Amino acid sequence: MTVLRSSTPKARKAHACSICTEPIEAGTVYHCQAVVGDDCVYSWRTHTHCRLLAKAAWDADYCDPWEHTQSAEDVNEWLRRDCIEEQARAVAGDAGVAVWRAVQP
Ligand SMILES: [Zn+2]
Repeated sequence: MTVLRSSTPKARKAHACSICTEPIEAGTVYHCQAVVGDDCVYSWRTHTHCRLLAKAAWDADYCDPWEHTQSAEDVNEWLRRDCIEEQARAVAGDAGVAVWRAVQP
């Protein structure tokens, strides 16, 4: 997997966040990466708070150690298993806590 381009554009239309699947509303600044996968190029679009959570999950080694990639499932696993509410708030504020709450069993 290779990241071709990384940017923080303002959404012209609504997109689904690649991590929490909630909409990124038009007019919101979000994080976008163009990624070359196994057999395609795709966009990885996330809320800025979801990207902060993903980075914290990465730092906690929630990623694929062989491919050195990270999926939404890796982030969700970290949120369920290792992250507590206070940490989600410290990393990504109230929006981070909302994502954390959404994945708790
Ligand atoms: Zn999100």
